[in-house]
Amino acid sequence: MENISLLGCTGSIGTQALEVAALHPDRFRITALTAHSNAEKLFEQVRLFKPLFAALTSGECEIPADLKNACAWSFGPDALREAAALPESDAVLDAVVGMAGLEAVLTAGKAGKRVLLANKEALVAGGEMVTSVFGPLKDHRLLPVDSEHSAIWQCLEAAGDNLPEEILLTASGGPFRTWEADRIRNASVSEALGHPNWHMGSKITVDSATMFNKGLEIIEARWLFDMPEDRIRVVVHPESIVHSAVRFRDGAVLAQMGVPDMRLPILYAMAWPDRLNTGAEELDLFRVGRLTFEEPDEKKFPAMALARAALREGGGAPCVMNAANEEAVYAFLGGRISFGSIYDIVRYVTETLHAGKLRCFEDVRDCDGRARTLARERIKEIQ
Ligand code: NAD
Ligand code: MG
Repeated sequence: MENISLLGCTGSIGTQALEVAALHPDRFRITALTAHSNAEKLFEQVRLFKPLFAALTSGECEIPADLKNACAWSFGPDALREAAALPESDAVLDAVVGMAGLEAVLTAGKAGKRVLLANKEALVAGGEMVTSVFGPLKDHRLLPVDSEHSAIWQCLEAAGDNLPEEILLTASGGPFRTWEADRIRNASVSEALGHPNWHMGSKITVDSATMFNKGLEIIEARWLFDMPEDRIRVVVHPESIVHSAVRFRDGAVLAQMGVPDMRLPILYAMAWPDRLNTGAEELDLFRVGRLTFEEPDEKKFPAMALARAALREGGGAPCVMNAANEEAVYAFLGGRISFGSIYDIVRYVTETLHAGKLRCFEDVRDCDGRARTLARERIKEIQ
């Protein structure tokens, strides 16, 4: 039995994790649940999964009478760390969105928990620190949930001690793949939220539209697989069937395929090294018919180059980029800036603010805070 603390239980990844956990009650027990603000959904989940600990990270709320003594309750941002270090938990599934999840990841690692990581922003902001706490991939203490990184991991598992020459990180290209640059700049919120293949939280859906998501994933791959940035190639694959691939010295390319359904990578991380039924539909290659691959259009989607530059600069540069992007995405979602301004703001902040080496969590938090302040000022200026 694997005891799991689930951080971000009300989101897209969180609810799918609960769905697959419910399919295998003999394998998984949910020991902690944390949500940010959706109290009603959290209460419903507490009734169903009966955790030992539950928390609402945005602050205090009224607990229904039937749940008051059902488990231990906690409120406010520190609850994430409490859930991450819960003595009864073996593993922590971090499905929080944004750098807000980083401290909990570090806490879980230091408490000896295995972390199943969907929360890519945590790794982007604190990559070096996170990898130093968890050690290399082969120690299996930090397991990827992001579909591309899960695919790469599955290919590497099959390769034994053979190291890859190159990672081929696939990208759907998002909803604006075939649009002209001018039209992309003025895309509306509902257009940006219309992802062709995946139903996800709004932040990552906008990131997929700008392709900052792929930029964040290049950085995520750099840290998870200890792979230099120039050996991580992005391949646009609109069908989202090949979830990523790895090329070896002998020319062999191993790829992992499947229907685009996050339950597979989520459950793979939860049940590793076993493969369990996910409830997802089977891949029917005859129905798919054709798989296509394209070079990314870096002119239309300059976000990836910005992420590569941040990786090459090193130190706090990826943290700065991530913070500026988080601020810009929420400003866009709130109707305060145009879609095209997301990139402009991130670029402005990364060109203006150069953070040195980040030595501890407090350094990351300060760097993140400075980048957010600058991004907010810029957002006000251009509004
Ligand atoms: P979501 O917005 O649907 O859910 C986010 C969850 O985090 C919610 O439970 C919310 O309550 C919680 N949360 C939000 N802000 C918080 C804060 N400040 N402190 C604590 N908790 C907070 O997002 P999602 O789509 O489930 O994505 C979660 C993470 O997984 C992101 O980092 C995303 O990039 C990554 N991811 C998601 C998918 C997907 O298919 N949704 C795929 C790959 C990776
Ligand atoms: Mg992904």
